[in-house]
Parts: sequence; C-alpha cells; structure tokens
Amino acid sequence: MLLFNTAAADVFYKKQKTCPHCHSEHFSLSNHSKVLRFSILPIIPLSINYQHQCDACGYTSAVSWYSLPPLELASFIKYFIGLVLIVYILTKAILGIHEQADNEIRYLNEPKKFDTYFVYSDKFTGEPKRINNLKVAQLVEFDDKSMTFRVANYTYKYNKDIEIAMRTSMLVQDDYFSSKTMTFTKQQVKQFYEDNSIYKIMRPELYSLYGGFVMHPPKPKPLYAGVKLDKHNQQGITYFKDGQFKEALESFTLSAKGGYSWGQLNLGQMYRDGQGTEVNNEKAAYWLNKATLQGNPKAKIELAELCLSYDCSKLNTQ
Ligand SMILES: [Zn+2]
Repeated sequence: MLLFNTAAADVFYKKQKTCPHCHSEHFSLSNHSKVLRFSILPIIPLSINYQHQCDACGYTSAVSWYSLPPLELASFIKYFIGLVLIVYILTKAILGIHEQADNEIRYLNEPKKFDTYFVYSDKFTGEPKRINNLKVAQLVEFDDKSMTFRVANYTYKYNKDIEIAMRTSMLVQDDYFSSKTMTFTKQQVKQFYEDNSIYKIMRPELYSLYGGFVMHPPKPKPLYAGVKLDKHNQQGITYFKDGQFKEALESFTLSAKGGYSWGQLNLGQMYRDGQGTEVNNEKAAYWLNKATLQGNPKAKIELAELCLSYDCSKLNTQ
C-alpha cells in the first residue's frame, strides 16, 4: 500500500433524490474529490468534485461545491485532519527546541552535579578527530569559576548511539568514565557551548536520562562508627549500607543497650527516619537523649533538631 495516495473520498451526506432523466429514486450525490492522504489519514484536498449520479440510467450532473448541502460542506473539515496534526506536531517540536536551548543556558549558568554534556571529542578533550567523535562528559565538581568533568572512555559516531547507551544504563558501569577528570573555567565551557563543541546539555531526572540510569543515586546519610569500635554498631553499619534495615536495627539495638553512644545515635536516627521500623519519635528522642547524656556531640545536634518538631519536655536529661 502506498503511504501517500489520493483515494477518492466518500459522500458524507447521501440523501436520495429523483432522477430528472428516468425518475428513478436512486439519484444521489457522489463524491469524486481527490484528497492527498498519508495512508488513510487525509492531509489536504486536491480537487473538489461532486456529481449527482443515477444508479438506474447512469445520468450524471455536476454539482458545484457552494450548492452542496450544508452538512456535506461542514464535513470538509475531515480533509484537513492530517494537516492540523502536522502543524501541531511541528509547533510542538519547534517549541521543544526552544525550551531545550533555554534549559541549556540555565544549566550553564546554574550548574548542578551530574549535568550531562554531549560533546565533540576532538574539540572538548583535544584528542585527534576520529570517525567516532561524540562523547559524554558529566559535571562532577564546580565552583564559581571552574567546572570539572569526568569524560567517557567510549566514543560514538551517532547521537542516537549515546541515547541507547543512556537508555541501557551504560553510564553507571564501572569503566564507562575515565578516572581522569578535566577542569575548565566557566568561561571556557561557555565558549565550548557557543562554538558547538558542546552540542547538548541535559540534567538527569531521578538519576536518569532516556529512561536509563546515568548516575548512581547519592549514598545514604553517613553512619557513625565512633572512635572506639563497637562490634554490634559495626555490624549494624554493614547491614545498613546493604539496605538490610531490619537487621541493622537489631544490631544497633544491641549496641545501644550495651551503652555505646554511637550505636544509640544510629538507632535513634533509624527510629526518627522509620528505617527497618515505623517512625517512632518517642524512641528516637529516647536514644538520642541517651547518647547526648554520654556527651556524644552528633547526638546532641540531632536531638535538638528533633525537639523542634517533637515535644522533648518529658525526657530525662540527667
Ligand atoms: Zn436515471
């Protein structure tokens, strides 16, 4: 089937009349208009041609478009469905391009860690130009004046190959980025963008671009081993880092009940954050207070913060 075609249109309004020639009742409007279609989708009418046609004797008479029944005229809108769609899609695409450009300027001016830059390898890293010349660089550090990137070990010929790499979470593989970083001044980076050495900038959402991970989620909050190592607290930290919160809670409970202030701090935080357990501010305050009474500086800060939203007046502070 041809994608573009000019199949004849149907009559929308098909009222029978009497034939002036043979008086048959099968004298009706027929539509011989040509419409350019994409597959079955009409895009634009090429010619409007209606006739009255008799099924009995074959007599035909031309009908000009302005004498068509109003319903048939109103139905002309159907010929433009494809055109309206095309205009709509183009408008969206153009607006999208503008939005992307606006975002890129914003990303340059207000950088964020893990902003992802699409670059021409030869211009950005100074490597010799090869057929595969496209690369990904990711912002890993910045301050007011400079920006530091980690640069991919991989190069690509086409941008779509980069999109595939992102979609398949290649960027979070261990060897994807070189361990060496590159630092430029902000001004240099802007220059790269202006001369198109950087041809696109994207900011990951939920650690992802194109549906695949492009960065590791940030590590959970630091846990406290303390100065003097405590076996249960250490075990709890190991569990916690593996995401085994129930086991971590048990280990921190043993450590806390054993009187170890860092274990009490960790346990208090888990009750406060509802990890491995329901949120329990009463228990959180209890254990943070225990650790504070032992002079744990971190616990003191955490407790003070908790007491802003939780009534700590019943705590035994001696
Ligand atoms: Zn007839």
